[in-house]
Amino acid sequence: MYKLTQNSSIAGNWISPTGEAFQAQNPATQELLAEHKNCLESDVNSAMKAAQQAFPAFSQLSPADHANFLIAIAEEIEALGDQLLEVCNQETGLGLPRLTGERGRTTGQIKAFAEIVKNASWVQASIDTAEPERAPLPKPDLRKILKPIGPVAVFGASNFPFAFGTLGGDTISALAAGNPVVVKGHPSHPATNELFAYAIGKAISRCELPQGVFSLLQGNTIPLSVQLVCHPLTEAVGFTGSLSGGRAIMDAAAKRAKPIPVFAEMGSVNPMFFTNNVLAQSGESLAKALADSVCMGTGQFCTSPGVIVIQKNDSFVNTLAESMSANAKGTMLNAGIGQAFLKGIEQLIATGEVEWVNQAQENLESSINNALQPPNVVLKTSAQAFLQNTQLQHEVFGPATLVVECDDDAQFAQIASAFEGNLTATIHATDKDTYLVKQLVTLLEQKVGRIIFNGFPTGVEVCGSQQHGGPYPASSNASTTSVGIDAIHRFTRVVAYQNTPEQLLPAELQNVNPYKIVRRVNGEFSSQSI
Ligand code: NAP
Repeated sequence: MYKLTQNSSIAGNWISPTGEAFQAQNPATQELLAEHKNCLESDVNSAMKAAQQAFPAFSQLSPADHANFLIAIAEEIEALGDQLLEVCNQETGLGLPRLTGERGRTTGQIKAFAEIVKNASWVQASIDTAEPERAPLPKPDLRKILKPIGPVAVFGASNFPFAFGTLGGDTISALAAGNPVVVKGHPSHPATNELFAYAIGKAISRCELPQGVFSLLQGNTIPLSVQLVCHPLTEAVGFTGSLSGGRAIMDAAAKRAKPIPVFAEMGSVNPMFFTNNVLAQSGESLAKALADSVCMGTGQFCTSPGVIVIQKNDSFVNTLAESMSANAKGTMLNAGIGQAFLKGIEQLIATGEVEWVNQAQENLESSINNALQPPNVVLKTSAQAFLQNTQLQHEVFGPATLVVECDDDAQFAQIASAFEGNLTATIHATDKDTYLVKQLVTLLEQKVGRIIFNGFPTGVEVCGSQQHGGPYPASSNASTTSVGIDAIHRFTRVVAYQNTPEQLLPAELQNVNPYKIVRRVNGEFSSQSI
């Protein structure tokens, strides 16, 4: 069993940072956990320098060696055994069954990246051979490919300590593309971060790679995050978290002398539309299933349904309210998130346009002393109010949902047009709703990354066709995804080679096609040599 040291890790060396102290809290028992210290700017500097030094060798690994490294990471995570689950449960209160599932998802996604790295086709090789005789001008030989971008800074979220944490999708996709990574560990689960740093350190040693491929900086101060984003050797940022945090990091990156790309996945209200016909058919069971989806993970999912659009339907709203009240209260990830949840509800009520459905002001006030276990809340408002006040679209991260009552189908379309960017939108409808559904789909394609039919947005399949991202403010770049193997493309640059001698080309672009990858050659996809 690994003995925790409350340290950070720079290029394989455990260091005892000397910055301000911070402590995580067990949200279930409110017990304060071991003290950690913030890393300093000098630590950021050491980690980034080591990452830069590791970059040339790491980015030139063969596909087989690169894939073996990713597999070694997954194996070392598995080797942490129950210690990882128990330590993380203490820091997050998420429970062992949920964490066991999330660990499987995390090692599963690492193995999926290993497969595509081994195959090497992900580099999107494209070749247009020369036509020296072309008139009026000869055509040059042009070949292009995706190359790793350089050292990447990663910020994980608190709500998925494995899948979006220290060795979560951002880190692994950046490593899979051939980039060293420096992680700013989430301060809600520092011991979990340390265990992951230990696991990847072992994988790096096993594969005899430069240790600068990975560093973990622990801390909870904004200056530390900004120093990492603004360090001149940082070439890109992967962020998962709140809109306020993501926006602060986007702004810091944009203000650099040399701006760098930030791939930020942020909050979302994940609107759901239920037509009159579907509610007439199965309103009761849908209301119960919706309550379960909102309360899943105590509402602390980026895909939690935060806005429900219906035509006025008291029976549906009452069943939803009863089911939400009947769902057991869950535990919030930390006191800050619990307090932000209660404040978010208060702000909605303070607009004067939102009504309580299943709770009352007194219940909220009585929970203020224990923000870690707030009530499950249903609120409602009118379509008119929702269209006039964009504040009603803000994510309230936790077990709450806002029902928007429309007068007719025309208001459904108006509401769909008024949404800001979201990760998902969901439509529940019957065959009788074809016209309305087509109209909604056309509008929602402009607003979200994933449209779900007759289902619920919680539960994100990890596969090649997944899109987890959406127009701002859901993410900083709607052209990419943070879930699924296409996430690898974020941490790359495109390089084209013109009239380049065969021996100077990257292997994937050479005529002989040594890895037998699929390439676009003169417009046709082929794995043949040229
Ligand atoms: P968070 O508070 O934004 O924290 C994420 C990271 O950003 C932490 O390392 C945090 O460090 C840093 N950070 C926060 N504010 C900052 C600022 N102003 N300047 C610099 N760094 C800052 O997010 P969270 O509470 O962990 O996660 C909950 C949120 O994540 C929810 O909104 C949820 O919807 C979203 N989320 C989105 C996805 C997705 O895929 N789209 C997935 C999971 C979660 P410090 O704490 O040290 O400041």
